[in-house]
Amino acid sequence: MTAYTKKGYPDSMIVLGSTGSVGTQALDVAKALGINVEMISAGRDILTLEKQIRELHPRFCAVADEASARTLAAKVADTDTKVLSGSDGICEGIYNSKSTVAVNATLGEAGLFPTLAVIESGKRLALANKESLVIAGDIVNRAAKEHNTEIIPVDSEHSAIFQSLRGSKSREIKKILLTASGGPFYGYSREELRSVTREMTLAHPTWKMGKKITTDSATMMNKGFEVIEAYHLFGVKPSQIEVVVHRESILHSAVEYIDNAVIAQLGAPDMRLCIQYAVTYPDRVMGCVRPLDLFEVGRLTFAPPDTEEFPLLALAYKALELGGAVPAVLNAANEVAVDAFLNEKLDFYRISEVVSETVNEMSYAKEYTALDDIIASDREARRIAGSKIF
Ligand code: MG
Repeated sequence: MTAYTKKGYPDSMIVLGSTGSVGTQALDVAKALGINVEMISAGRDILTLEKQIRELHPRFCAVADEASARTLAAKVADTDTKVLSGSDGICEGIYNSKSTVAVNATLGEAGLFPTLAVIESGKRLALANKESLVIAGDIVNRAAKEHNTEIIPVDSEHSAIFQSLRGSKSREIKKILLTASGGPFYGYSREELRSVTREMTLAHPTWKMGKKITTDSATMMNKGFEVIEAYHLFGVKPSQIEVVVHRESILHSAVEYIDNAVIAQLGAPDMRLCIQYAVTYPDRVMGCVRPLDLFEVGRLTFAPPDTEEFPLLALAYKALELGGAVPAVLNAANEVAVDAFLNEKLDFYRISEVVSETVNEMSYAKEYTALDDIIASDREARRIAGSKIF
């Protein structure tokens, strides 16, 4: 880790998944802190990428496939940005970048190889792609240890836990209190959940996020993934991670210590604070986030989660206990089900059914720990989940 300037944070960075919700906020942070953006990447949103290239002049820009790369390269032929494509292209850009930190805000399973490339190239990984850890947490952690690189969480809850853990010893931790907003359907009965629509699902009460994660938040699958993410990031047992419903999204998570002291991080619900902290850590600097007004907040509430009506949270604990490739199966089945839901091919209440059935049918995947087997399980889970959608 070199090339940190005297202001305490790097002068250049990489933003993967730069057209998404966290990605665009990462670019905001870079602008606010005066950090040069050396590389960006995204799937196929050529229009936004062209704008970003013209504004930020990155050295590299990677897209999902060759056809998109050709289209984009033609559009930005007058710039110095090199357009790359596919998994190999994104990794090539990462390896050839001089930046010491990369924000990975790629959507879904596609974020895994970039995560590994960032780690293997010795850069700090500011991780917003929780799927990397859900799918292959053990492999990612092993790589980080081997290459002596840091993984700093960007997910708001995990950033809060990370901050609440500063200066502590692992034997002092009693449990992690992982807060959940509960999503738009908190308190709904099973009957009511049968008639919710796409529009209702995409109206999240406190956080402004992309469609996939907003849907995951409504089913509480997102919180399930975050339990798995916390397990891999903080080295605690699954039983030491407790989900707490906190509707206001002001207390972003906490750690309870063995002396029963609880240390939490609070702040306005704004991902830019988490992104900024992951980039500037261990320093804190002034940035673009508004202060928290406790008087305006008034009061904070806490309640246990309802795993009867939202079974995907309990399923995530089960997948974590089974281990191996089962969490990858959970993620893959969910990606397929949510995609079908967002394209109006699947009702909301059927998401949890498709995911649960797929995980149950593939519980044998607990035996698989090698990366190739995990990827094969992911593909098989997509096929099985897809066969349940009609
Ligand atoms: Mg979160």
